[in-house]
Parts: sequence; structure tokens; C-alpha cells
Amino acid sequence: MLKRLEIVGFKSFAKKTTLEFTASTTAIVGPNGSGKSNVAEAFRFALGEQSMKSMRGKRAEDLIWGGSHQAPRANRAAVVIVFDNARRMFKIDFDEVAIERAVFRDGTSEYSINGSRVRLRDVVELLASANIGETGHHIISQGEADRILLASPRDRRAMLEDALGLKMFEFKKQEASRKLEKTEENIAQINSLRRELAPHLRFLEGQVKKLERADSLRAELVELAHIYFAIEDNYLAEEKVKHATEKQAAIGRLAVAADELARIEERATTDAEGVKRLDVVRATEREIEKLSSERGTLAREIGRVEGALAATKERSSKTAREPYAKVPREELLALAREAGKQALEAKSPEAVRAALSAVAEMVKAFVDRFVSPADDLMDEEEDTVYALENERTELFAKDEKLSETLENARATLARAREALTAHDETGRELRRKILDLAQTKAHEENALTANEARARELVFLTEALDRTKAEAAALAGMNTLSYKPLMRMPDEDRHTQEERKHTIERAMIRLEEAGGTGEDIRQEHKEVKERETFLATELDDLSKSSAGLAALITDLDTELGKHFSDGLAQVNTSFSEYFSLMFGGGSARLTLEAEEESEDEELGEDIGASEVVDVKRPGIEIVVSLPKKKVRSLMQLSGGERALTSIALIFAMSQVNPPPFLILDETDAALDEANSRRYGDMIENLAKKSQLIVITHNRETMSRASILYGITMGNDGVSKLLSVKFDEAVAVAK
Ligand code: ATP
Repeated sequence: MLKRLEIVGFKSFAKKTTLEFTASTTAIVGPNGSGKSNVAEAFRFALGEQSMKSMRGKRAEDLIWGGSHQAPRANRAAVVIVFDNARRMFKIDFDEVAIERAVFRDGTSEYSINGSRVRLRDVVELLASANIGETGHHIISQGEADRILLASPRDRRAMLEDALGLKMFEFKKQEASRKLEKTEENIAQINSLRRELAPHLRFLEGQVKKLERADSLRAELVELAHIYFAIEDNYLAEEKVKHATEKQAAIGRLAVAADELARIEERATTDAEGVKRLDVVRATEREIEKLSSERGTLAREIGRVEGALAATKERSSKTAREPYAKVPREELLALAREAGKQALEAKSPEAVRAALSAVAEMVKAFVDRFVSPADDLMDEEEDTVYALENERTELFAKDEKLSETLENARATLARAREALTAHDETGRELRRKILDLAQTKAHEENALTANEARARELVFLTEALDRTKAEAAALAGMNTLSYKPLMRMPDEDRHTQEERKHTIERAMIRLEEAGGTGEDIRQEHKEVKERETFLATELDDLSKSSAGLAALITDLDTELGKHFSDGLAQVNTSFSEYFSLMFGGGSARLTLEAEEESEDEELGEDIGASEVVDVKRPGIEIVVSLPKKKVRSLMQLSGGERALTSIALIFAMSQVNPPPFLILDETDAALDEANSRRYGDMIENLAKKSQLIVITHNRETMSRASILYGITMGNDGVSKLLSVKFDEAVAVAK
């Protein structure tokens, strides 16, 4: 319930002015321009009005006392409306609620509730909770009685919703929509963050998978390394012992072989008999060689003699080959005579010819031999042959002797060789032994060399093992080296262990490639994963809250729709009643805008709540039907008729959901006497449900008020307030 209004520095109220509202109807009267409407505007102002126009100003400073000759201008205008909140009309736990607004020349406003600074929004919400809406339907300014008639269907709807107290739903809806919008923004933001994060996370997951593979590889390596190291330790230890034993044995054997060899070589150098026999053999061999050479010379000599002999004989044999060469002289002559005789006696020519040829011949032989002979030559050749034959005989004798000597020498050589061979058996034996021993010695030396190589190999293997251990420990941790020593070598060949080594080396290469234990990667993955999980949870929460908000908006729409259609029906009932009361008949009603024609009917009647949801909310039309007149448009009504219609509507709206107070600034200005009375009746009726503040020049209206305030303005331009009696009021009003 409205308790009082305090005005200071606001418009014409230069000084602090307090209006108490102790009755249900208060009338404010006074001459034109005294500042009555400023009171109505003071209400608007304090209730958070943002439109300068509706407070008849252009700038904030138009609201502040501008000053006069008598009173300096103010820098601040302030209005406080005080409500009685004993019944907790406002949803705050105070018996009194003081809503204050101040404005400064720079245009800034300050709001407070019960002295605490608040935002405009807080004021608006607090008022809405008490059904004091911001559309100001409860403050009807001067000349604005038919504002609701002139307003657009949409604005009308807003006014109606406001009057029906549905503003709270709107606020809640707006709040929910704002939150929903914010939530959607956050969702979009989180989605984009997740999108940004996704490739990095995927990359890290890949890395971590690799690391995990490296982990299992490391575990395998450790397991295998334990086996390998244990076996290798054992192997090397055993091999070292074996090697040392072998070395000692080889050294021993070598010493024995060397001793033996030295001894035998010593023996071999003192073999004089063998040397002597060899000398005999060699001397004999030289002798034979000499004899053979001599014999060769002799043979060549014999050859020469025989050659000469043959040549000489050849020559002499040519002569000797003549047919009568050997026939002595007398005999040859006898033969020739005989042949001549035969020729003489021959019968045939052929026989003659043959006998003559024989004669010729014999004659030739005789001539050659006896008539002109080469007797000297014949004798010389015979001498030569003789000499040569003698020489040959001599040479043959010599050769025979030489051959004999050679034979003897050969026999001597054979014997000497035999003796030497017999002796050589012993020498060969010695040499063979020397060779054997030398071989044995070389073998042992080789064995020692091999042993040395093996020693180096074992050192190398030990170093390699140490290196592998160090590398494995560096790659897979120190536990790689904590293995139990082997009790017994496994029954396997060395190849198996070498295979193990290869496997370990491969594993180490792969681990090295994997690059460290990747603690930083794991940490980063953990953090990014956590962030992703956090975002996913956040997104889930936001989606839930988004769904919740959407549902809330739907619910609010549903409720709003339901309340609206209920309220509309009630307003229509009252509107029609007031209308026919004012006009003495006829009817009036509010309908929903035509563009949603099909739904209008439903909504106007019994509207299904859910159908209003998400439907573009139609505006409100006013349909009137005057008694005995046919009007199609509101604009065709007279000023008085328009005033009556809007009063009927305002009152109807107030009836359904009465506001705590209603300010009517000369709403009755256009009414004639009869209508003024009807207006007065309605005011009385209305005052039962809302506190009324009527600014009026109307005597009838004044008569219905319990309290009357007179407002006057002196030369100083300052509005002054005074309580007046009815009669005074009538006077003051003039
Ligand atoms: P009517 O009966 O004709 O409607 P009214 O009583 O409602 O008149 P208002 O309109 O409330 O009169 O008052 C207007 C008066 O207030 C004017 O005299 C105007 O000069 C004065 N006024 C308005 N704003 C200021 C201001 N900022 N400082 C001083 N005076 C102001």
C-alpha cells in the first residue's frame, strides 16, 4: 500500500514536499501549471521511467529544479515512494519499502531500495513482484487516457500482460533466455576450445601410445637382459678359466717340444760317419762323371774314324763295282777274245749286238785297268783304309778298357750309395723327428697365439658386455642390472645367446628411437586429457543447463500463455460490463490480432496453453459496439467516447489484477456531467481494490476523494502543497 511520496528538487518542487496517502482515494487539485502533473511524473520517475518524453523532458536536467529569482537551481532531483509492506506485498522482509531515485545534471541516475544502492533492474523486478509494471498502465497521464486505444496492438498486449501481472514471467523468460544465450555462447566457446585441443590431444595420445609400447619393450628388454647378462657373466667366467688352463697346458707342451727338438738337433749335427759316406758317394759320382765324359770323347773319336773309313771305302768300292774289276789281265783278255769270237759266230743281230757290247765293255775295263790305269790312287786308298782300320781297332780297345773302368766305378758308386742309404735311415729318422717336433712346436705356438687371440676376444667380450649393461641400464633403468647370478649354464649352444644379444640390441635401438621415458609428454598428455575431460564435463553440464533453460522457457511460455488467455477472458468480461455501464449499453472486447486469425478464436476462447508456445504472440485489438451507432474504427469515436472506452478498459484491467495504486491525471477531463457521475461511481468501485490518486479539476471526482491536496505556485515558480477541505479544493482548483 502506498504510504507517501517525497519530492525534492524535482521539476517545480524545489523544496522537499511530502504527500501522505492515508486514504484509498486522494485527489490533487490546483490551478493550471501549478505542478500537479509533476507529481504524477514524480511517481513515474521514481518507478524507473526511462522515457524522457513521458516525463515531458528532453534531457535529465529538465527533471531538476531549474531555479528562479528567489530560489537557486538544484543539482539533483530525488523522489522517494514509500510503501507499507506489512503484508509483504513486496517480496522483501521489511515493513516499509522506500524506493528512491535521484538524477544529476550529468544525466546519471541513482536508485536505492530502503537506502541501499541498487540497479534499475532490481527496482523493476521488485515492483513487478508487487504488480507495479513498467508500462505505466497504472499511471494515466494527462491527455493519455486513450493511450491504450492509440497504442499499437503489440504495445497494447504488453500493457495488458503488465496489467495481468505477467511481467514476472517475462522477466523470468528474459532471464532464462539471457542465460540460455550465455550458455550457448559458452557451449560454442567450449566446443571451439575442444576443437582446438583435439589435434594436440590426438598427437599426445599417439605419443603416449608409443611410450606405452616403449614401456612394454623396456619390460621385455629387462627380462631378456636379466637372462642374457646372467648367462654371459657365467659364460665369460667359465671361458676365462678354460682359457687360462689351456694356456698353461700349451705353454707346458711347447716347452717339452722345444727341449726335445733341441736335443735331437744336437744329435743331428754330430753325425760324421754319414758325412764320410756321402763324400765317397760324391767322389765316385764325380769319377763316373769323368769316365763317362772320356768315353764320350772316345766315342766321338771312333765315330770320326769310322766316318773316314766309310768314305774311303765308298770311293774304292765305286771302282770295285766295275763288272770286270776283279778279273785279272790274262783272264780278261781271254774273255774278250771269247766274246769276239761269239760275236763273229752269232746268228742273230741281237746276239751280235750283245756279244759286241760285252766285248766293248771288257775292252773298256782292260783299257781302264791296264792300258791307262790310275794305279797310284788305288794304292793310296788301300793304305788309308788300312791305317784307319788300325786306328779303329786301337780305339775299340781303349773303349773297352774305359767301359770296364766305368763299370767298376758304377759298382763302387752302388756300394757307396748302399752304405750311405743304410746310414741315411738313421738320419731320416732324426730329421723326421725334428720335423715332427718342429711341427708340434709350431702347433703349440699357434695354439698359444690362438689362446692370446681368445684372451683378447674374452677381454673384448667382457668390455662389450659391460657396455651393453651400461646402455641397457641407461635405457631401461638400473633394475636391468639387478639379476640373480646363474647356478648352472643352460643346455644350449652359443648361438642361442647370440640371438638373445641381437634381440636386446634391436630392442635397445627401438628404445633409443622412442627417445627417453617421455615424462614430460606423459605429464602434458595428463594435463591436456584432464582439460579435455573438464571441458567435456563442463559441456555436459552446460548442455544440461541449456536443455533445462529451454524447458524453463517453454514452461514459462506455457504458463504465460495460460495466464494471458485466462486474464484476457476476465478483462473482456469486465471491459464489456464497464463499457455498457459507461455507454448505457453496447459492448466492447479485446481480440487477438487478425494475422493469427485462426488462433485468435481459440485464444480468445478457451486457449490450450501449449498452443501459445512459440507462436508469434499476436497483438491486441479493441472491438467496440456502441449502442445505437455503427462504428468500425476506434478513430471514429468522439474524444469523450474514446475517454470512456479507455477508462472502461483501464478499469477492467485494474479489476482483474488490481495494481496497488492507480494515478489518473485528468482522465475525467472530457466527461460531461452524466458521465462524470458514472466515472465517480467507477472510481469508488475501483478504490476498493487499488489506492487511487486522481488529479482533477472535476468537482464530481473531487467529491469522491477522502483526502484533497491543493497545489499552488507562487511567483518564485516553486510548487507548494497544502491540505484542503472539499470546499477549499473546489476553490483551489480554480
Ligand atoms: P494543468 O492543470 O494545466 O495540467 P499542472 O498543474 O499539471 O497544470 P504541471 O504541468 O504539473 O502543471 O506543471 C508545469 C509547471 O512546472 C510549469 O510552470 C513549469 O514551468 C514547471 N516546471 C516544469 N519543469 C520545471 C523545472 N525543471 N524547474 C522549474 N519548474 C519547472
